Amino acid sequence: MSNPGVPAKPLGLFGDELSAWGVALAALVAGALLTAALAMATQTFFKQQLRQRFELLASERYSRIVERFEEQELRLDGLRRFITYSSEVTPYAFDGYARPLLHRTQAYSWAPRVASGQRSAFEQRSSALLGQPYQIRDLDAQGRLQPAAMRDHYYPILYTQAASHEAQPYGFDLGGQAPRAAPLARAQARGSMAVSAPLDMINVQPTYTRGLLMVAPVFGDEASANGLPRGYVMALLSLHQLIAESLPTVADDNLVVRILDLSNEGGHEVLFDSGGPPARMGLASSHLLHLADHHYQLDIRPSQDFLLANQSSAVPVVALLGGLLSVLLALLLYSLFSQRQRALGLVARRTAELRVSEQSLRETHNQLRSVLDAATQVAIIATSLRGVIGTFNAGAERMLGYSASEALGQLRLEDLVLADELHQRAHALSQRFGREVGAGQAMFAETAQEGGAQPADWTLVRKDGSHLLANMLVTAVLDEQGLWVGYLAICIDVTERRRVHEALAARDRLLEKLSAEVPGGIYQYRLDADGHSCFPYASQGLHEIYEVDLAVLREDATAVFERIHPDDLERVRRSVRYSAEHLTPWREEYRVCLPQAGLRWVRGEATPEIGEHGSTLWHGYLTDISDLKRVEEELRALSVTDALTGIYNRRYFQERLRNELDRAQREGLDLAVIMLDIDHFKRINDQFGHAVGDHVLRSLCQRIAHRLRRTDVFCRLGGEEFMVLCPGSNAEQARVLAQELWRGVRSVPVEGVGRVTASFGVAGWRAGEGADALLLRADAGVYAAKQGGRDRVEGELLS
Ligand code: GH3
Ligand code: MG
Ligand code: MG
Repeated sequence: MSNPGVPAKPLGLFGDELSAWGVALAALVAGALLTAALAMATQTFFKQQLRQRFELLASERYSRIVERFEEQELRLDGLRRFITYSSEVTPYAFDGYARPLLHRTQAYSWAPRVASGQRSAFEQRSSALLGQPYQIRDLDAQGRLQPAAMRDHYYPILYTQAASHEAQPYGFDLGGQAPRAAPLARAQARGSMAVSAPLDMINVQPTYTRGLLMVAPVFGDEASANGLPRGYVMALLSLHQLIAESLPTVADDNLVVRILDLSNEGGHEVLFDSGGPPARMGLASSHLLHLADHHYQLDIRPSQDFLLANQSSAVPVVALLGGLLSVLLALLLYSLFSQRQRALGLVARRTAELRVSEQSLRETHNQLRSVLDAATQVAIIATSLRGVIGTFNAGAERMLGYSASEALGQLRLEDLVLADELHQRAHALSQRFGREVGAGQAMFAETAQEGGAQPADWTLVRKDGSHLLANMLVTAVLDEQGLWVGYLAICIDVTERRRVHEALAARDRLLEKLSAEVPGGIYQYRLDADGHSCFPYASQGLHEIYEVDLAVLREDATAVFERIHPDDLERVRRSVRYSAEHLTPWREEYRVCLPQAGLRWVRGEATPEIGEHGSTLWHGYLTDISDLKRVEEELRALSVTDALTGIYNRRYFQERLRNELDRAQREGLDLAVIMLDIDHFKRINDQFGHAVGDHVLRSLCQRIAHRLRRTDVFCRLGGEEFMVLCPGSNAEQARVLAQELWRGVRSVPVEGVGRVTASFGVAGWRAGEGADALLLRADAGVYAAKQGGRDRVEGELLS
């Protein structure tokens, strides 16, 4: 039984740590050794084959040479028998027989035995027979044929059939010369063929000069008496012709052939050498050849040609293939082992990762379980695809009153929802999707939609039958392949939230109603740290005050500032900044220019507080005070106007004199006053009545006001005393004006009364002088005029 904890080792002999390089190197070395052994075996086998081939060739060559030697013996024996059995041999018969035998033979000859006494008769008969002079001759020291010396017997050549066309040595006595006489003697003694030692043949082609003379004795009846042969037939053999003919030329020959004559005691003469250098191969074959009574040594060795023809490419091929296979094997093993090591590494890594994942999964599972149990305010319910409950957490138990054991596998999610609501939702979904959606699927149908389902409010039914308003989100649960395996519902009790929401809505409605009743508008104004400002809340009244869209104001207050009168804008801004910096209540009255209502006066009051992110938040109200402003203006006008004459009264004069004195002092300007008092006014009253007196007062005021400049200020000090304030004029200019006014008063009579005159006093302001001193001097002027007789202008009095 294998231990699952231990990884299997398919190549158990090798450790994991064994490097792929080591295995590849070992395979390469083994492959190299094997290749070397194979190459050596191939080399040995090749050498053996070469030896066999050589031996086959040498044996074949030997057979052929033996065959040719035997052939020569057979032919000569044939000629011997022809002579033996012929009673008389004519030249014609000899030629007829001997010519076909001329095959690899230089010449066949017939030399009869001639006794010394028969010499001349023989020479005569032979001359006649051959048709040419015939003598028995010997070869002298210079190699020329000379008439033979006297001997008991001669064996002169009578007939000859030669391959060469040169003149034949007719009459040449073989017995007269030692090298040729020796084989004759041996042949006679043995009664069979004999071969001479190597000798130089005469009258043959120069190539074939060195050769052998093979002789066979021909015995006749008469010869038996003295044992001498009747004569000899002979063959002249050139070994070069005999061996080389019809065999490959030196250039083509696989073999180098040498034939040695063993008869010579002093040293073996080379009879035949095929030529060409032998190959250095250590191969050689040696045979013994027999020709008649002679032995020759045949040496055969391989030629260079043989070497070239039998060169083997097997060894390099084997070495090359072996080397290639070794490298391939090494590469294959390297690849296999690297892959295996990588695979083992991968398995180890994956196993470690799996362990980590498993541990993490376990922790996650525990955390999830803890979360599920800890979420007592949230009901978490997981179901199968059919809606059957599989998870029911503590929050669900608390919210719905079922225990987990009562819910798991027993209830479906739809059982927890108010049935009517479920049917209504199913009906709505059926219409929306255009297909029938069952009540059981109403809760899950939207989870399949793009973007998933949205949380929705549902009425849940507790175990005790009571209802509970919950916000429920149903999502699909997917496995790791992305397949749906169930649903997950998360419910939050929103009863309290709904209650708070409704209370807030009621509060909003109340605010709306109250603000509708309040004149003007109430608002919340926010000034951010970056200077941006807006009205997060503004009641409808604000729209009437500014004639701007309230939705725009919620984002940006710029439209409001654009409505404010340019002369007031900076003041408003400054006061808002001041309120923000000091957190003091803001209060301002200013004008707005509205597209429809035109110029209006607005009053605002608000209290600031610190808002979020460095902002300031005001809560306050705005009212239209245009009517109030108008009344105020009217009241103000009344307060400074003399009711009888319509010109300014004493209060206004005193206020204005103070301001003008300040200005003259500040800016170094001129200022003068003209005071006038109607002469004997009491008399007019007395004579014409008080009402006519009033009429005279109004009439004179109109005349004087008519002649004044726009900058002059005309006031009634009281009774029939008047004052003209002349800013920018000095005493002289004021006196000229006074003169003009004086003339204007006295030149035209008042209707029903007649001429009315007045006394004028003039005073120019002196730098550093106060109001009282100035008025006193003017008053002194009037007094002086009265004293001077009235109806006159009294200029500046020096005091
Ligand atoms: P003079 O100045 O030339 O010395 O003589 P006079 O008659 O003008 O003297 P005075 O200044 O003492 O008299 C002023 C009179 O003006 C007294 C008063 O009855 C009269 N008077 C004052 N106020 C009014 C007014 O509002 N209406 C009318 N009709 N008379 C007024
Ligand atoms: Mg008077
Ligand atoms: Mg008076």
